[in-house]
Amino acid sequence: MKRFSCDELVELVTAYLEGGLDEPTGGRFEEHLGDCEGCRRYLGQFRTTVVTLGEPQPGGLPGETRERLLSAFRDRGRS
Ligand SMILES: [Zn+2]
Repeated sequence: MKRFSCDELVELVTAYLEGGLDEPTGGRFEEHLGDCEGCRRYLGQFRTTVVTLGEPQPGGLPGETRERLLSAFRDRGRS
């Protein structure tokens, strides 16, 4: 079975935290997390940010916040 790339995982973080992934997708998500320290750290940061902002908005995080997190993640992966 094809594994998630880090980019794919990042796209699914919001759905994962909201319990919105179906079982095979959630399993692959957690499998990637098990092998990828960068994504584990990203998920931890993401959770902290959501807690800081309060409850997730319906439909996910505000676009601006999401973009900021995504670009921070991508910048780190580039170095
Ligand atoms: Zn990863």
